[in-house]
Amino acid sequence: MNSRGRLFIMSGPAGTGKGTLRKILFEEIPDFVYSISCTTRKIRPDETEGVDYHFVSKDEFGRMVAEDEFLEWAEVHGSYYGTRRRDVEAFLDEGKDVLLEIDVQGALQVKSREPDVVTIFISPPSLDELENRLEDRGTESPEQLAVRLRNAVMEMRHAREYDYIVVNDKIGRAADELSGIIEKYRSRRKAAGVGSGRGNE
Ligand code: 5GP
Repeated sequence: MNSRGRLFIMSGPAGTGKGTLRKILFEEIPDFVYSISCTTRKIRPDETEGVDYHFVSKDEFGRMVAEDEFLEWAEVHGSYYGTRRRDVEAFLDEGKDVLLEIDVQGALQVKSREPDVVTIFISPPSLDELENRLEDRGTESPEQLAVRLRNAVMEMRHAREYDYIVVNDKIGRAADELSGIIEKYRSRRKAAGVGSGRGNE
């Protein structure tokens, strides 16, 4: 019997490189799973249904909220996003560690209910640098860019409520720091004896 997995949450403003960091993490850490969120946002040309998100209608999202299917959900940049409880619980029950990449509102909701969750905030080196990166990325209209920058200021105010802050100054260095944090918890669990039948840590 496996011990239960641990939940890790990564947040940070749009354009901080969370997506790239996530890819590196999943190449480096075996048996780590990513929980695919549901969103009402429109699919982007480079995205795949069921890989990047489960893209759902507002009606469907509303039904899921009403039926309490979400571990957490929030409105971000004018669309709704949520983490399906049953997906996360199934992975944790299998003994797998799970990563959520969700916004500050969702992360703090989960942390307040489940203190064992490890929360990590990915910060840009500065707001100027973030603005440059978002402009270079070119995926947002000027209006969307303004919304994301306003949200970035709000999100950075909450950075200190996270267990860890990783500054993404250089992607390789930030990825090493991030995987170091995650591995620290995983090796503690191994040392405590996975397979011993212990319940939650
Ligand atoms: P994007 O639309 O650029 O993929 O994501 C926008 C924001 O929504 C990001 O900050 C991302 O972390 C957040 N997000 C993605 N999935 C979820 C979720 O399930 N719950 C919450 N609360 N935020 C999410």
